[in-house]
Amino acid sequence: MITAITNAKIFDGEKLIEATTVLIEGEKIISVGGVVPVHAVTIDAKGKTLLPGLIDAHVHTSEEGLRDALNFGVTTELEMMGGFTRSGREEQLKGIDDIADVRSAGMGVTPPGGHPDELMPGDGEIPDFVLKELEKLSEEERNARLVAHAHDHEHAAAELASPDEAVAFVQEQVRQGADYIKIMIEEGSVLAAPGLPVLSQEIMRAAVEEAHRQNKITLAHVLTVESAKKAIDIGIDGLAHIFIDRPDTTADLVKRIADADVFVTPCLVLNSSIIGNSASELASDTRVNSKLSEEWVETLNSSFNTYPQGSMEDNYRNVMDLHRAGVDILVGTDVSVPVPSLGGLAHGASVHHEMQLLVKAGFTPVEALQSATSKTARRFSLNDRGRIVEGARADLLLVEGDPTTHISDTLSISEVWLRGDRKINKNY
Ligand SMILES: [Zn+2]
Repeated sequence: MITAITNAKIFDGEKLIEATTVLIEGEKIISVGGVVPVHAVTIDAKGKTLLPGLIDAHVHTSEEGLRDALNFGVTTELEMMGGFTRSGREEQLKGIDDIADVRSAGMGVTPPGGHPDELMPGDGEIPDFVLKELEKLSEEERNARLVAHAHDHEHAAAELASPDEAVAFVQEQVRQGADYIKIMIEEGSVLAAPGLPVLSQEIMRAAVEEAHRQNKITLAHVLTVESAKKAIDIGIDGLAHIFIDRPDTTADLVKRIADADVFVTPCLVLNSSIIGNSASELASDTRVNSKLSEEWVETLNSSFNTYPQGSMEDNYRNVMDLHRAGVDILVGTDVSVPVPSLGGLAHGASVHHEMQLLVKAGFTPVEALQSATSKTARRFSLNDRGRIVEGARADLLLVEGDPTTHISDTLSISEVWLRGDRKINKNY
């Protein structure tokens, strides 16, 4: 069966194009423009814009998170620490077809007691949000999850006391099917946890070098200019956050990031929450709240609020300095679980919010859309997606209006396709 989407404005991942027709067969786009075969099922998209499925370049996710993401036209989530490596996907997601695709870093390289331990209660204790999840499961599933949690905790707390141990840790992540390697450089100053331990440069450099030997790119969690410098010093490929501060040395750092061709996933939605802003405006939009559970709406309506002295103006200036210096900026959110202390974020919805904040900072809507599609696909070598071209996966999003002029039109979702399958929107 061939599906023809006709009369659409088409943003191909890089720009608006002349063609107004896309043909889908099986899992793929088989033609952009051209004649519609007589037997094709036609979808008239007059007044609408067709986009590549969106990519969130920074999440921590679950089956439910992936389902919400897809409902918002986010067809790929990139996990920056979590369980969905190749082996995790095979064990937990096989055969489930109403969820976004996912890639994962596996466990992050961090010292004992380092980030993100400060976000978790007690030592090895099961966090509340996990317990809540567990209540919904059968006893058998529950036991499996508890074993998995103990296993995760062991891994996160691995004693990385030498470069050799860092190398072994990276090798283990790759064996589990990690798609890239994540390194934590978090001293806690803007997360209300000052004095968090950070690994030595020598140990982190060994991890980066081993990842590169294994043909994996490396990303660093950094939230300050000082930590970002350490990441550049060890040869990192991407920053999974933008620095939230703006000291005098920022210009020098921006130049070093550009010179090293490092990409940056700012997660402005996270920094806004850290500064104390909730995402209430987003949460009050019926295009958003109609698709989210009550606990996710509640989460959007709260914030981290651990660095109220920060300023979004500084964040906008930082992101524009990088953008003007030619640094690839990717759309990411750092969304994880529905708890108010990790608030201001929701799977899928926050990707749209992030694009809005990039436009607020000074991006054109087209640049914001590139950052959620083609740029991300290129930097993560996801060569089958992120663009509307012949042969690409038919991961597509059709919206009312024209987000290349009004970025918030991305929320007016009419249809979503995942690998050529048309998905029905789930509404609460
Ligand atoms: Zn994260």
